[in-house]
Amino acid sequence: MEPAHVWTECSARLQEELPSEEFTTWIGPLQAGLRGEVLVVLAPNTYVRDTVRKSYRTQIAKVVEGMGDDVGVDRIEFEVGELEAGPPVPLKAGRRESPRRRYNGADLNPGYHFNSFVVGKNNRIAEAAARHVAEAPGTSYSPLLLYGDVGLGKTHLMQAVGKEILLNDPGTRVRYLNSHRFVNDMVEALKGGSMGEMTNGYREVDVLLLDDIQFFGEKVRSQEEFFHIFNLLQETGSQIVLTSDRYPSEIEGLEERLKSRFAGGMTAEMGHPDLETRAAILRKKAEHAGVVLTNEVAFYVAERIRSNVRELEGALQRVIAGAKFNGTPVTRDSVDDALGDLFARRARQLSVDEIQKVVATYYNIKRSDLLAHRRTRTVARPRQIAMFLAREFTSHSLLEIGTQFNGRDHSTVLHACRRVAELRQEFADVDEDCANLIRQLSK
Ligand code: ADP
Ligand code: MG
Repeated sequence: MEPAHVWTECSARLQEELPSEEFTTWIGPLQAGLRGEVLVVLAPNTYVRDTVRKSYRTQIAKVVEGMGDDVGVDRIEFEVGELEAGPPVPLKAGRRESPRRRYNGADLNPGYHFNSFVVGKNNRIAEAAARHVAEAPGTSYSPLLLYGDVGLGKTHLMQAVGKEILLNDPGTRVRYLNSHRFVNDMVEALKGGSMGEMTNGYREVDVLLLDDIQFFGEKVRSQEEFFHIFNLLQETGSQIVLTSDRYPSEIEGLEERLKSRFAGGMTAEMGHPDLETRAAILRKKAEHAGVVLTNEVAFYVAERIRSNVRELEGALQRVIAGAKFNGTPVTRDSVDDALGDLFARRARQLSVDEIQKVVATYYNIKRSDLLAHRRTRTVARPRQIAMFLAREFTSHSLLEIGTQFNGRDHSTVLHACRRVAELRQEFADVDEDCANLIRQLSK
């Protein structure tokens, strides 16, 4: 390791591990220095200090520990304060990795447990499969493949499996890595002529958690090497858990034999959380941060941030930080203050026209049918849904929306919005249609 300041290095590693909003909100404002062998982490205020101590202490400790014995840190403390002007206190540079046991879960995110994971319709099967694997690794369901769009909890759930296995049996060798990292390691190993060693290293693994396998697409050589490792692990009864942003057969440039291996165990799709689940996630994360979020406010945010959980979390952090700095409770108004620009950006992106087109395509009808005055159900319902979506996704008034639906008045639009809300409660298919459309429009 180059001589480096422990904190600079530590914070760079945290930046890699944490979602960027999270890093910016909590880790970015910190400074640190060394007092004897104590790493003193300095926060700008008590709120940040307490949150960091509560939520990131273990992760910071692990990162520092992972930097080796020679960095000279024995203990970590959290204080409010600032470094005096001048460069950060230089710290001793580590020369070698500490000889701690390999694959002991040190590279798992400390917050990713089963009990911090909110179960909803979108991930029920995946969560059940993951729990099953955690209870009985290597017996059935190997590989377990979790697939779905970004930010929907694949990494969280996969790591929860590793955590739980380690909890049940701390001697298990659990290895987590991203496929990106696998490919890089392999390139290095090829250069250094140590490919055999690398492959052999995987013999030491009881549970392999390999994230984002879509990254193997087009990487012919990596696929070949991984194919051997995969077979090796299967033969020795190790548990493999994989994630992917799509089903293996849809990964371009992936060999057939890997496609069938990847999908050959248990596969579970992770979908987009519905409104209730999003609100529950917000409440859980807020509770974890020690902040009270009323149901009303949770729903208020959840209704507006629909894309994925990562964005939802980022939004929540802004809301919390804002409220805490001002010392005010979290209300709709404080949410608007913290997220107004985000909401506005969403709203600006779409026109009523675009929404009409998306809805017409979805229902396989003509856009002119949406605008016409016919009342047959095949067009009346899509029309109401289009109005509802226009209300949700644009900042136009009811009247303006009505005007763009061939001169209807505001009460027609209002009625449509209410009707759609009722229909969603009553009919699962309408709810699903709406959820699909919302997803498309949120992209
Ligand atoms: P992916 O790997 O699918 O891109 P992540 O696992 O990184 O998604 O999840 C993004 C963020 O959202 C993480 O901070 C994770 O904790 C959170 N998250 C996602 N789904 C849930 C859930 N059901 N309950 C709690 N947190 C969740
Ligand atoms: Mg992930």
